[in-house]
Amino acid sequence: METSRIPGFYNKPIEERRELLAELAALDEAEAAVLSSGEPLPAATADKMIENVIGTFPLPLGLGLNFLINGKEYVVPMAVEEPSVVASASHIAKIVRSAGGFTTKTTDRVMIGQIQVVGAPDIQAAKKELLSQKAVLLQGANDAYPSIVARGGGAEDLEVRILNEHSDSRYGQMLVLHIYINTCDAMGANIINTMVESLAPVVEDMTKGKVYLRILSNYADKCLAKAQCVIPPDLLSTGEYSGEEVRDGVVSAFEFADSDPYRAVTHNKGIMNGIDPVVIATGNDWRAVEAGAHAYAARNGYYGSMTKWSADKNGNLVGELELPMAVGSVGGSIGVHPVSKTALKILDIESASELAEVIVAVGLAQNLGALKALVTEGIQKGHMALHSRSVAIAAGASGEMIDMIAEQLIQAKDIRVGKAKELVEKNKK
Ligand code: NDP
Repeated sequence: METSRIPGFYNKPIEERRELLAELAALDEAEAAVLSSGEPLPAATADKMIENVIGTFPLPLGLGLNFLINGKEYVVPMAVEEPSVVASASHIAKIVRSAGGFTTKTTDRVMIGQIQVVGAPDIQAAKKELLSQKAVLLQGANDAYPSIVARGGGAEDLEVRILNEHSDSRYGQMLVLHIYINTCDAMGANIINTMVESLAPVVEDMTKGKVYLRILSNYADKCLAKAQCVIPPDLLSTGEYSGEEVRDGVVSAFEFADSDPYRAVTHNKGIMNGIDPVVIATGNDWRAVEAGAHAYAARNGYYGSMTKWSADKNGNLVGELELPMAVGSVGGSIGVHPVSKTALKILDIESASELAEVIVAVGLAQNLGALKALVTEGIQKGHMALHSRSVAIAAGASGEMIDMIAEQLIQAKDIRVGKAKELVEKNKK
């Protein structure tokens, strides 16, 4: 198998990259035009999306390349301001591709709506009543949003939890009703919120308590996506480091992160470096994904690594990433933002589950990219070389001078804005 579908992509001029992509992803004229438009998100559209609009905030949009997932090729749009993220994901995707690619899977797309009940005079009786009225409650939820039921989704189950049940709890007892809702290809926040709000009066009636909050939980632990890769060590060797050394370093880096929250946060931030750019590029709610992912990293009672790295009996490096992935391929701002529409076309996914699977594969690749660098030469060499262009721009370089100053910074092994300013002045003379 070829190691890349678009060799040398990073060396090509932007215009040529766009032409190649338009052909590869079969973009129509309008979809392709969005990528080169001076105003990809028109102010008039932005003004309908949020309040007090004064402009838009562009981010670089790059392509994660070489991703082979469940035997299918993906070109992955990534919107991100940090240098080296896209290069690193593509580099690891190329290695994993040579090892047969990523395998991924998802659970059913079941989201959670919460209804908080306080002041029920008999909390156990209230719980019993809600459970015995399950059919009525699920029907009530579905009646509030019949179109999702028609699509094959809707409220499917419920659970009743009592919080602060013990007398030494910090707060008073309360009842929380969970409604489990299949939101099909939507992230579902509005669908869920509509359903749980509609149930409030009937829940008050059944429990004789007062309903305060009625909203989805972003801890979407019934909507999980999982990616796995198995890499023979010979594909991991780099510079003077053998593949076995890299493999053992990666496993040890995982054990460090899983043992220490100070490291885990940074380790996981590196995973989100890959996940957020895809979530953003596809118009999804990255705060929701971030919140769910970090909560899931603490599900065992401590904040640990989102990924797991181990060596199998054949000496291969095995990587796994499982996260809540409540993203949609429809709904929210996905169909409104012209760039996210093009991004989804580029990705060529057929469902929200497929999108979730691509996202966790990118997160897993991103993690290995960071760990592989960290256990060998360190991240600064590669990162700072790529960062040098931003440093040159920050120091006032423009046009052809950007690459020239960046190169001089790398040669001088001094990639700082102060140094870049000196070089800019010198080159102006
Ligand atoms: P929408 O309100 O846009 O609902 C999605 C709509 O897409 C559905 O109503 C459905 O309408 C339509 N649709 C078309 N095809 C499908 C399909 N195959 N599967 C499912 N729906 C389909 O978006 P969401 O409910 O997903 O809400 C997401 C938004 O909510 C995001 O913008 C998010 O930022 C925001 N939000 C997030 C919160 C949080 O995370 N805590 C809180 C509040 C809001 P129909 O069936 O009628 O055609």
